Amino acid sequence: MGAVGMTLVLLAGWGAFAYSASRRWRLLMTGAAQPRWDRIDERLRRTWRYAIAQLRMRRYPVAGLAHMLIFTGFIALLLRTLILWGRGFDGEFNLWLFGADQALGKVYGPVKDLFAVLVLLGACVFVYYRVVRRLPRMTLSREGLAILGIIIAMMLADIAYDAARIAREAPAKAAAVGEDPADSPEAHMPWTVEPAGSLIATALVGLPDGLLAFLTHAGFWTHSCLVLLFLNLLPYSKHFHVITGIPNVFFQSLDPPGRLPPIEDLEGKLEREETLGVRRIDQFTWKAMLDFYTCTECGRCSDHCPATSTGKKLSPKQFTIDLRNFLYQHDRGLISAKASSRDEAASIEGNSSKGGDGGRAESGGSEGAPAWQADLVGEGGVIDPAVVWACTSCRACEQECPVFITYVDKFVDLRRHLVQERGEFPAQLQAAFRGLESSANPWSFPAEDRAKWAEDLGIPTLAEKPDAAVLFWVGCAPSFDERAKKVTRATAKLMQRAGVDFAILGGEEQCTGDPARRAGNEFLFQMFAQNNVQTLSGYGCEKKTIVTTCPHCFNTLLNEYPDFGGKFNVVHHTSFLADLVRQRKLTPIQRLDRKVAYHDSCYLGRYNDEYDAPREVLRSIPGLTVLEPEATRDRGMCCGAGGAQMFKEEEHGTQRVSERRTEQLLATRPDAISSACPFCMRMLTDGLAAHGRDEVPQVDVAEMLLEAVG
Ligand code: SF4
Ligand code: SF4
Repeated sequence: MGAVGMTLVLLAGWGAFAYSASRRWRLLMTGAAQPRWDRIDERLRRTWRYAIAQLRMRRYPVAGLAHMLIFTGFIALLLRTLILWGRGFDGEFNLWLFGADQALGKVYGPVKDLFAVLVLLGACVFVYYRVVRRLPRMTLSREGLAILGIIIAMMLADIAYDAARIAREAPAKAAAVGEDPADSPEAHMPWTVEPAGSLIATALVGLPDGLLAFLTHAGFWTHSCLVLLFLNLLPYSKHFHVITGIPNVFFQSLDPPGRLPPIEDLEGKLEREETLGVRRIDQFTWKAMLDFYTCTECGRCSDHCPATSTGKKLSPKQFTIDLRNFLYQHDRGLISAKASSRDEAASIEGNSSKGGDGGRAESGGSEGAPAWQADLVGEGGVIDPAVVWACTSCRACEQECPVFITYVDKFVDLRRHLVQERGEFPAQLQAAFRGLESSANPWSFPAEDRAKWAEDLGIPTLAEKPDAAVLFWVGCAPSFDERAKKVTRATAKLMQRAGVDFAILGGEEQCTGDPARRAGNEFLFQMFAQNNVQTLSGYGCEKKTIVTTCPHCFNTLLNEYPDFGGKFNVVHHTSFLADLVRQRKLTPIQRLDRKVAYHDSCYLGRYNDEYDAPREVLRSIPGLTVLEPEATRDRGMCCGAGGAQMFKEEEHGTQRVSERRTEQLLATRPDAISSACPFCMRMLTDGLAAHGRDEVPQVDVAEMLLEAVG
């Protein structure tokens, strides 16, 4: 088929790809370090489940099936491409044992033909979604359509090559067995191990040999060259995920989703005046950059983002695209800066004073500095501050992303820089920070009033009863907010009723620091984490059970305090109460003939996978029906309070998140709305008021249970 031509094609195709891939690799290596080689077995297991078996795509049956067809088809057709490239040098070339007369060839022929057809179908589904249905979540880019066009053309060319070749060979085959080609059934119905090619060949038989030869060559070269064109387009398109998707799933964080990585050696960094959080693009880790490379622009993240759906400037997909474009735009500058910093480091022995970013210039953003050093957020930056502050940290985007791209860590990293270095954050957060600093709660209530809710309940403090088996960690909202205090009291009463041996910390309890951390004030958070771990460990809480009604406290105590030396057994009150009901220490006997719409808290559900316990408690109540809104469990919509939103005004949008969520809950036509989080309760109460539906009761799971226990 032309050895010289094929040599040139392969050299040009692979040479160009090697250049692009090495450029992307070197760009990736400009990112900050992040170890991701731990627990290889777990990584492989997840890679199998999510990258190969594509479990997350099952939520989208049609698109998921189409994607699976293209994915498996490409793997199956890899051999075929190698065979075709080989035929450029030797027209009869077949891989070892893959000849048409050999056992593997007889199996592979129909398999690859079948997959060529299935890939065609899969690609047509995506063309339909893009061009006909025009799904708003998808980017209708020319590049995306061009890639789909190439895939379709590759498959058609492959089938055409087979068909023309089979039709052309048919008369010779008939003659070889002593038949007249004009009468031979073989020549008219030239069936081979390639059924799709054979089917088309029956229509081509009889065409002039010159035309068939042209079709054979055209199919052959079109397929052989398009594969290389496709390969070379990948690094410059959203289809780069074809290469980076599997590694991105493999290198995902194995930490609990609720754990934000702490800023290590925070005080040292402050002393050395090193950047805290992320200001410049190269301060993102290499894994964050791999996320940018891998985004398929499918828009599933933005489709489920409460900020996007209520008209805020934040669209997670766009956030990733903007950062990726910026990264690609400045790849030369970044790569050469990294190379010179490496040379510099090598020439200056013991150059440790340059800090954690490899000693690169710190003058980003100032006049004359290279463009890649520009501040990412703010005027002239690539990200609008309103985008950074609109995130509720609900993780709906992360839950939905098929390639495990994360967002909350990136937004918090950007906030860390804005808060701790630039002092730029929504004004209302200042009051929360001040309250936390002065009174260890974000509302500045006097710290000594923390246990006032319990005054008439006879609950001991751990100082009074250090051997109590259970610590009731109350939290700030449940200690001070009038509505949340009722839930706190209900929970305490239920524990007393069940004979639980528990105590509280009283005045020794401080905010866990969750709002400060999600708002980017890592310094304040670490102060609380250290104080609280010291207090808890002082009472030997590692050997106790800690119960809390607040999913934010629950998440921080369970998933984030281990980084500060505190490993505790923490249980959300709904799980604890479900257990007490199961053990018959609490028996709901009163009928509550109500239909109750249950709202999942993000920090309990998506963060800690607890969906069943609250429902189990509610369902244990005679007469009570649990209603599920359309968006529920791991697809439940955020109330709008997380990520420190509770302490600031929402960014400008078309609707408040709480109002949208309340709308969804009201659509179930409930008698009451139930939740299991003091923040959700506050937001949904506001949502009900905004809809003029204050008459719908908003109750915590514990309050319902207390009523039913009687
Ligand atoms: S965490 Fe929630 S609010 Fe933030 S970007 Fe993701 S979906 Fe949107
Ligand atoms: S981040 Fe994930 S869900 Fe969002 S557009 Fe990219 S690939 Fe799709």
